[in-house]
Amino acid sequence: MNLSVDIDRYSGFCNGVVNAIKKAERYLDTNKRLYSLGAIVHNSAEIARLERKGLEIIDIDRMKELRDDVVLVRAHGEPPTTYRMAEERGISIIDCTCPVVLKLQRDIAAKYNELKPLGGQIIIFGKRGHAEVNGLVGRTNGEAIVVEKPEDIENIDFSKPTALFSQTTKDVEEYRRLVESIKAKGCENFIFYDTICRQVASRYGHLADFAKGHDVILFVSGRDSSNGKVLFELCKNFNPRTHRVETASDIKKEWFKENEKVGICGATSTPRWQLEEIYYICKHL
Ligand code: SF4
Repeated sequence: MNLSVDIDRYSGFCNGVVNAIKKAERYLDTNKRLYSLGAIVHNSAEIARLERKGLEIIDIDRMKELRDDVVLVRAHGEPPTTYRMAEERGISIIDCTCPVVLKLQRDIAAKYNELKPLGGQIIIFGKRGHAEVNGLVGRTNGEAIVVEKPEDIENIDFSKPTALFSQTTKDVEEYRRLVESIKAKGCENFIFYDTICRQVASRYGHLADFAKGHDVILFVSGRDSSNGKVLFELCKNFNPRTHRVETASDIKKEWFKENEKVGICGATSTPRWQLEEIYYICKHL
């Protein structure tokens, strides 16, 4: 089958993920095993590659059983309770919290300390239970209110001073709509912060053009990636013939017609080598 295939040059790991993987690989160059608290990246193929080098993914319950070990904290960050537990158990942390997330954690903690004596509240727009969101809520003693869907704002008391932050990988437009709906509630003492990561947000416009410029889009991403879900939906909006692909075996020949233009793109958790692998498969269909 003759297809013209392009890889989106802006797709691939964001700096936060690149940095975490580099640190893990550097450690594993001279050590046999490294524990990672949660998946270092939401991509099973990349995880399998790192596991072959000695990375072992653990959850917080497993970490409670360790002593005098080394644990990597991934780019999403962790709540303060994790660091306290590590200290109590003599665990060394390789901290790969992304600088963008770190700044957000600090800003939320500062705002929480400012608003608490005034009876105020912190709202976080994000996915409940997501590691980054857990880390952010942890900066407010677990008191921040997480808003996942527009209707969640009905549970908020808008007579209180209110500060709104967003998880770094949320959709810019959705966040803007949330801000407008809170303003419409007449909250007098309301402030919001633009905390969406530009590494993600800056991809939106470009990805929309990329999706429109091809007959078929293959969006390569792990099923658990939040950023992957957002960017996949965006591509699908601009090109209904967008398919989500996790591995090369997901590709179906019937998606394509002779001489079509195929675009390959992915999330901030998709490694470049995987995009290239999908490219190779498409070129040999
Ligand atoms: S998406 Fe942005 S904030 Fe999140 S890890 Fe990547 S660079 Fe950091």
